[in-house]
Amino acid sequence: MMDYDKIRAGVRLILEGIGEDITREGLLETPDRIARMCAEIYGGLYEDPAKHLQKQFTVANDDMVIEKDITFYSTCEHHLLPFYGKAHIGYVPDGRVAGLSKLARTVDVFARRPQIQEKMTAQIAQALAENLKPKGVIVMLEAEHTCMTMRGIKKPGSRTVTLTALGIFQEQRDLQDRFLAMVKQL
Ligand code: ZN
Repeated sequence: MMDYDKIRAGVRLILEGIGEDITREGLLETPDRIARMCAEIYGGLYEDPAKHLQKQFTVANDDMVIEKDITFYSTCEHHLLPFYGKAHIGYVPDGRVAGLSKLARTVDVFARRPQIQEKMTAQIAQALAENLKPKGVIVMLEAEHTCMTMRGIKKPGSRTVTLTALGIFQEQRDLQDRFLAMVKQL
């Protein structure tokens, strides 16, 4: 589990490193506040996405299921700055579907870890493939990376788009196009 003493000590060192006075009033509680925050924003490290995908329902048809505009907040593992945006998930079931809220929960498990967007996209797709065993799954993430907008090249509003397609979504381009068209619809 998380070592809060280490987090607190680390925050103090960073503050001292940038030349701050860690005894001033505004900063006194900061190490502890950040330790508690870490439990929340990195709690996904201690969660198994399979837990959320165990409850499944049987379906007779194999029509595409799409859950789009799932808001997520994650942290870039290179700068420990937030990246946030929307996840769009589509899959073609093979007799079994998950509850719709469980797709959002799965996104959440992977978002609450130090991440890179490409890996997060692939991990969500993989978790759905393993647990639901659908005919195919596709995951698209669009996000703004604050390590690119508040520092570095400073291009506010630019979005990074990543896509992972497995199974029939990988094999059939027209199915991918159908998913993308439905995601783009308002
Ligand atoms: Zn970054």
